[in-house]
Amino acid sequence: MDCDVTDCERCPALVDSRSRIVNGVGPADADLLFVGEGPGEHEDEHGEPFVGRSGDVLDEGLRSAGLARADVRLTNCVRCRPPDNRDPRASELGNCRGHLRTELAAVDPVLVVALGKVPAEHLLGREVPVTSAAGAVHEADLDTARRVLVCVHPAATLYDRSQAETFESALVTAADYAGDGGQSTFGDF
Ligand code: SF4
Repeated sequence: MDCDVTDCERCPALVDSRSRIVNGVGPADADLLFVGEGPGEHEDEHGEPFVGRSGDVLDEGLRSAGLARADVRLTNCVRCRPPDNRDPRASELGNCRGHLRTELAAVDPVLVVALGKVPAEHLLGREVPVTSAAGAVHEADLDTARRVLVCVHPAATLYDRSQAETFESALVTAADYAGDGGQSTFGDF
């Protein structure tokens, strides 16, 4: 896809720790764009967002909500794996923001789904108590006004089963937006 990043060295620490740049995957005109924090070990190895256990949880949640992985687009706030799986630094999030904005503009999704605290706060530009805010749709100024659904990270359900229902419920909300193209819910910000 045109918005794929093939050569970028803006984050020296991430350039050192990555095996490759992990670009988004999925339809170029997807209704739903899921945004994670950044590549982990498996994503770095396979070159695709949300593989491994988190990916399995996401795939299962999507299926339960009537969606398939192939129907949605998956990407990350930063495209290169941070060392020791640390959170991306503010400077790195800022460095990669342009790549994310380019992808957002190209895909033009009906709904952006922020998977976890880092993407939720990055996209909304403020602190977000993800567990209590999960399932809510907010407006974010991302070059244009975009709907952003806050969702817990799929990995959170592995360590806290009480998060599973919150996660699955948020995906059902996402599926509703995909199903009607967002028309019936426009103005619900
Ligand atoms: S994380 Fe993004 S901005 Fe930083 S080096 Fe990788 S592609 Fe470039």
